[in-house]
Amino acid sequence: MVARWLRLSIRARLTTVIALILVVGFVTTNLISFRTSTEAIKSTLLKNELPLTSSNIYSEIQADLLRPILVSSLMANDTFLKDWLLGGERDVSRITRYLEHIHREYGVFTSFLISDKTLSYYHFSGRSRHVKPDDPVDAWFFRARAMEVPYEVNVDVNQEQDKQITIFINYRVLDYQGRFIGLTGVGLNLKSVARIISRYHDTYDRNIYFVDDAGKVVVRSNNAGVREDNILTAPGISTIAADLLEREEGYFEYERDGETMLITTRHIPDLGWHVIVEQSEAHALRGLWRGLFTNMAVGFVIICLTIVVIYYAVSLYQRRLEDMAVTDKLTGIGNRQMFELELDQAVRLRRRLGQTFSVVLFDIDHFKQINDSFGHLKGDEVIRKVADAAGRVIRRSSAICRWGGEEFIVLLHGCALKDALEVAERMRATVAAEPLFTPDDATRVTISLGVAEVVGDETGEHVLAHADHALYVAKQAGRNRVVAHGA
Ligand code: GH3
Ligand code: MG
Ligand code: MG
Repeated sequence: MVARWLRLSIRARLTTVIALILVVGFVTTNLISFRTSTEAIKSTLLKNELPLTSSNIYSEIQADLLRPILVSSLMANDTFLKDWLLGGERDVSRITRYLEHIHREYGVFTSFLISDKTLSYYHFSGRSRHVKPDDPVDAWFFRARAMEVPYEVNVDVNQEQDKQITIFINYRVLDYQGRFIGLTGVGLNLKSVARIISRYHDTYDRNIYFVDDAGKVVVRSNNAGVREDNILTAPGISTIAADLLEREEGYFEYERDGETMLITTRHIPDLGWHVIVEQSEAHALRGLWRGLFTNMAVGFVIICLTIVVIYYAVSLYQRRLEDMAVTDKLTGIGNRQMFELELDQAVRLRRRLGQTFSVVLFDIDHFKQINDSFGHLKGDEVIRKVADAAGRVIRRSSAICRWGGEEFIVLLHGCALKDALEVAERMRATVAAEPLFTPDDATRVTISLGVAEVVGDETGEHVLAHADHALYVAKQAGRNRVVAHGA
């Protein structure tokens, strides 16, 4: 019982240790590779992918501005426009038609002309008004009038068209002597910018913001995380906003609602805007998490299978080792160790339940002669034969063991002396009748047997000694006989 428990626990312990090593090793390598991949993905995202997106947006916007700038330049250099201004701005319908033609032909959102002389603002729709030096709404005109470069890109509210935010190209018009006579140009509404933004948002699932130099969000993609008007005051991004607005480009991280957001930014000087491209770290690493879980699941199954295989292999080898330890190689019956275990058990049962038992010790008669006449190998065969024949007689519950050499011992559980003597006699007769080598062989061998029953609180050794003595008496009395102890 104890041996069985020990056996189980050794096996269980071995499997547990191997399982632990496998699990720890597997989880560790998985986590290390997950960590490395995380760092790699994050770094690629921050240093390559997101900057590439902002560069692309930057280039697209630059390209989008190129045409309107060219159109404005053509308008500013158009002799018709100059002559019309210099000719006293007569027949407004002619300039309106001109502006309307530009508007339609080039698909711009607005086209306009302002005369420096009369401060009239001509619009492609035909509506016109006067710009006023003291009106802050018109301050841009007086600024552009004094600038030294030929044109500017200005993001402003379109006073003429529903106050929409518009990107204006303000081009200076000079007369033939190079004197400033007016400002002309076209305007783009933010729809084209919004289109670019939504395309990047849909393709890469990234949030895009355009933020002016004061931190105000001018345009943002749908579902953008930052809903506030100004990044300097929006929760999360405000921690890096000041730094961001100072840089031409850069990458940052910030936390919003417990989520890490990765962003890159790029300044567009023409517009005075910063393009911010944002992606949540969790989103970027989603595939990686899925990989980790799949790996873990596959690993878990493999570990379980390995453990099962190990468990059965260990059991198999353990059983084989145990069999080898208690089995006699020559005869296949129990050996002396096995008998001692049986004897211990019989003594314990006797102490606990008062159950009796008997021991039969027997020895082949004149075995030396067998060896001498037929040789050792044949002698071995005889030993096997005798073990077989004697074993046939006894019950399964009784154990027959090889005591050593050509001596055997049988333990008869619950068997008193009288019954034991009967069993011994049957064994003797069976062996004596057994043909030795071939079925029709006349050669026979006999055995002498000593029988003893346990008495009182005798130990196993006592019973053995008694059986041994009885065997000695049997030999002395002429062999091929059964002698009971004390007879
Ligand atoms: P007795 O009737 O008095 O028992 O005479 P015996 O010749 O059998 O004498 P004893 O039991 O003393 O001799 C045992 C002999 O058995 C001695 C040894 O050479 C032989 N023997 C012991 N073990 C083996 C074995 O495994 N194989 C073979 N072939 N012979 C063995
Ligand atoms: Mg002997
Ligand atoms: Mg002998």
